[in-house]
Amino acid sequence: MAVKLPIYMDYAATTPCDPRVLEAMLPYFCETFGNAASRNHVFGWEAEAAVKEARSQAAELIGAQAKEIIWTSGSTESNNIAVKGAARMYAATGAGTSGRGHIISSRLEHKAVLDPCKSLEREGFDVTYITPETDGIITADMVKDVIRDDTILVSLMWANNEIGTINEVPEIGALCHEREIIFHTDATQWVGKMPVDVVKDNIDVMSWSGHKIYGPKGCGALYVRRRKPRVRLEAIMDGGGHERGMRSGTLNVPGIVGFGKACALCLDEMDSDRARLLKLRDKFESELSSRMEVVQVNGHPEKRLSHMSNMSFGFVEGEGLMMGIKNIACSSGSACTSASLEPSYVLKALGVGDELAHSSLRLSMGRWTTEDEVDYAIEHITKAVEHLRSMSPLYDMYKEGIDLSKVQWQAH
Ligand SMILES: *Cc1c(COP(=O)(O)O)cnc(C)c1O
Repeated sequence: MAVKLPIYMDYAATTPCDPRVLEAMLPYFCETFGNAASRNHVFGWEAEAAVKEARSQAAELIGAQAKEIIWTSGSTESNNIAVKGAARMYAATGAGTSGRGHIISSRLEHKAVLDPCKSLEREGFDVTYITPETDGIITADMVKDVIRDDTILVSLMWANNEIGTINEVPEIGALCHEREIIFHTDATQWVGKMPVDVVKDNIDVMSWSGHKIYGPKGCGALYVRRRKPRVRLEAIMDGGGHERGMRSGTLNVPGIVGFGKACALCLDEMDSDRARLLKLRDKFESELSSRMEVVQVNGHPEKRLSHMSNMSFGFVEGEGLMMGIKNIACSSGSACTSASLEPSYVLKALGVGDELAHSSLRLSMGRWTTEDEVDYAIEHITKAVEHLRSMSPLYDMYKEGIDLSKVQWQAH
C-alpha cells in the first residue's frame, strides 16, 4: 500500500482543478484574450462566443436557460447578490409598513449567507434563523411554521458544507411559490455532485462555485429565474451594467470557460463519482465505528451527501487529534477565529457539546480519492485516537464503568 503523502481529504473546502478544465482555459489567456463586451472586432466576438458556450454548459447542468446564468467571482458573491439583492428589491416600502420585510434563513448557513443576513438586519429587515433538530435537516414544515405575511425571502442551503446534510429544497421551494416568496438556495456543495432541475426543484435563485466542482477559483455563478416568477435583484456593485445589470465588471473569460467545462464534466461523471465515493465513505465510517467505541457520525445518517463524513471521537483532545494525523488534510470541528479556537457553530446548532465538537473531523472525498487513501486514513485516525485515549484519565474512568455525568468534580 503506497500512498503519496500528504493525502487530500478536504474536497468540501476546495477541489483541485481538473486537468481537462485547465486545458480548456489556457487559450483564453494569451491568444483569445478579448473583452467579451467588445462588440466591434473579432477579439471580442471570440471571447463572447466562449462565454456563451460556457453559459450553456452551466445552464444545462441545472436545467436552466443560458440567459438565466449570471457570472460572479464565487459563491460568496453569488450569495451576497442573491440575499441582499432580493431583500432590497422586494423590501416593503408602503406607508404604514413597520419594517422592511421578513427573511427566513437558518443557523446552519455558510457565513456567506449569515453575514449578508446580519447586514440586512442592520438595514431594518427582520430575519428568522431556523434551528434544526439534531439530525441537521431543515424541512418544509419548519419553514411553514415561521412564514409571516411580510416574508419576502427564504434563503436556505441545499447541502451543508460541514456535515453534508440535505435540506428539503424542492418542498421548501414549492411552499415559497405558493406564498409568492422568493426562494434562494446556496447550492455550493450540491451542484455538480447531485442532479438539479431548477424548474422541478422550485428554485428562484441559486448560487454555486467553480472551485468546489473541479473548476477554477474566483469564478462562480448565480441562477436567476426569468419566468414564473421573473426574479429581479438589486445590484450590489455599480458599473457597466453587465450580466443583465445584476453584476457589472469585465468578464473573467478564462475562468468562465473553465467553469463551463467543469459543469460539463460533472454532468457526465457525477453519477459514477457518487457511486464510487459512497462505497469509500461507508467503508470509512463503518471501519472507524467498529474498531472504536464512543464514535459518532454527525448529521442525518442517510439524508446527506455521499462523499462527506463528519465524525466525533469522545475522550480525545481536538488539537492533539489534528497533530496526530498531520498527513491527512481534512477539517476539524474547531473554527479558528482571531482570538481563540471556537467550536463549529454548525455542530453547536445540532446540540453537539463543545468538547465533542473540538474532537470532530470532517473528511470529504472527491474525484481522485483512492481506496488506499481511505485505508490509510482509517489506520491513522484509529492510531491517533487510541494513542490520545491511552493518556486520558477520563477514558480510564469510562472504561471502568464510572458514570461521568454523576462524578462530583472538585471546584477549581
Ligand atoms: C465554499 C462555500 C461558499 C463560499 O464559496 P466561494 O466560492 O469560496 O466564495 C459558500 N457556501 C457554501 C455552502 C460553501 O461550501
